[in-house]
Amino acid sequence: MSNQTDILIIGGGIAGLRAALTASQFGKVAVITKGRIGETATEKAQGGIAAAIDEIRDSTLSHFEDTIGAGAGLCNESAVKILVNEGVDRVKELIEMGAQFDRAETEGGRPFALALEGAHKRRRILHAGDRTGAEIEKALAHEVTRQKKVLVFPQTLSIDLIVENGKCLGAKVLDLKTNRVYNFYAKSTILATGGLCQVYLYTTNPEMATGDGVAMAYRAGAEVTDMEFIQFHPTSLVQSKQFEDIIALPQFLISEAVRGEGGILLNINGERFMEKYHAKAELAPRDIVSRAIYEEIQKTKSTHVFLDLSHIGSEKIKKRFPVIHKTCLERGLDITSDPIPVAPAAHYSMGGIKTDENGKTNIEGLFAAGECTSLGVHGANRLASNSLLDGLVFGHRAALFASEKINDKLEKSHKKEEKIFFKLSLQEIKRFKLIIKSNMWSKVGIVRDENGLKDALTKIVEVEKRIKNNPEDQISIELKNMAECAALICKAALDRKESRGAHFRSDYPSPSNKSWKKHLVYTIIP
Ligand SMILES: Cc1cc2nc3c(=O)[nH]c(=O)nc-3n(C[C@H](O)[C@H](O)[C@H](O)COP(=O)(O)OP(=O)(O)OC[C@H]3O[C@@H](n4cnc5c(N)ncnc54)[C@H](O)[C@@H]3O)c2cc1C
Repeated sequence: MSNQTDILIIGGGIAGLRAALTASQFGKVAVITKGRIGETATEKAQGGIAAAIDEIRDSTLSHFEDTIGAGAGLCNESAVKILVNEGVDRVKELIEMGAQFDRAETEGGRPFALALEGAHKRRRILHAGDRTGAEIEKALAHEVTRQKKVLVFPQTLSIDLIVENGKCLGAKVLDLKTNRVYNFYAKSTILATGGLCQVYLYTTNPEMATGDGVAMAYRAGAEVTDMEFIQFHPTSLVQSKQFEDIIALPQFLISEAVRGEGGILLNINGERFMEKYHAKAELAPRDIVSRAIYEEIQKTKSTHVFLDLSHIGSEKIKKRFPVIHKTCLERGLDITSDPIPVAPAAHYSMGGIKTDENGKTNIEGLFAAGECTSLGVHGANRLASNSLLDGLVFGHRAALFASEKINDKLEKSHKKEEKIFFKLSLQEIKRFKLIIKSNMWSKVGIVRDENGLKDALTKIVEVEKRIKNNPEDQISIELKNMAECAALICKAALDRKESRGAHFRSDYPSPSNKSWKKHLVYTIIP
């Protein structure tokens, strides 16, 4: 059995759905998602989407400067210009599609209530309470369902790309409803599979963020880059959980916007500490806040620090952060009066499939957009609220350029179907997952060094060897992808012998522009 379309999009988050809307103006589009539509990191995004839409108090130049500043010398300047300039129009289109962002009440004519977040000089974060991603996903999904040329295939897992003679012909997929494997052919394929931070023990990422797109692309011969740069969000809720939960469930995020509204960080002795680490204190770039928290936790021999917002006022907290307020209440914590125990968690991958500004990879017919990519808009450290914008802007661009191929002839594979036969027991999967996740957390986390990285890589490569053959079911497929992404992160972190942005090596604690102001690129010949 096979299926075919003009443009195949793998992923239904902000990047995939935006790409689908643009591509549908040119040809037939299929969107496949491994979960239900809306089961994405996009849907979880709290804080907001950054765009210089306030032309009086803000400018795209200022947004550009802040993005470059956070990126620690590794941003691709022309890509950042595209992000901040085209981002304004893409956000306005979102609003036209019906996305409801919070409106200003008393801010002197500003139509929207714009928030401030770490390392932004201006208020430029549009938000819908603290459920901004869900609002955006809803607006995009609604628009996609109105398009006759777009077909959505939920619960359809892409296993591998079909690449022959250097050209991507589509993807081999597993229909999770029927357990049937078939080839989905297309004239161009766009990967929009999101992040990979499930390779870490503690992460804010949803369960589906297992790095499938990066692993599939790498196996097919695509270049991947900047894999050492993982952003650790400074403030995820620390809670006592059953061990079983920890390896499956994401940590609940306490948005950066909470610090933007005045939340302060205290160590367990009740001392405010961020002023010691950075002039912007709680609003310093994320890597700095995460490392400061890490240091305070070590010093005080604790598991967490506290985020205190009791001075902000109960009504404002409930109105501005309804989801955080409700979720914490359900877990026995009233954030209007109780300090929130928080610690960093793996949050975002700056690295991924190498693309140009039009979403093109080094494989003909293969495009990519969103968190699974790396084209240098985030450099070594992403500026808060820039990733939704990234998916929106470059999802659109990837679709424009992928659509140039719709008059090409559809090609199909001549290869014989490979048998799928490898299945692990649930117990083995849990054990291997735990080896990957705990090694990544303790040795490839916020602070790294050569011995730890080598040790983690050895352990992960051992797991990789055990799962080499074609896996049969979703969790085995995801495990294989996680192992491959984890190994790539370890290798890149070992190779970069300096500290920069989110990558901190205690054995090379300073940046070295002379040797390392460059991107590390990895590829294999399949
Ligand atoms: C808790 C949290 C809060 C965040 N808050 C913010 C914020 O306030 N502002 C901001 O800018 N960013 C935020 N981010 C980051 C941002 O949400 C993500 O970077 C962004 O949504 C990624 O979008 P995407 O379209 O690339 O991927 P996603 O939204 O993750 O979508 C990925 C899609 O790919 C599909 N998929 C994956 N693998 C396969 C496969 N093998 N086969 C088929 N389909 C597959 C999934 O089913 C899903 O549909 C946050 C992230 C998290 C986790």
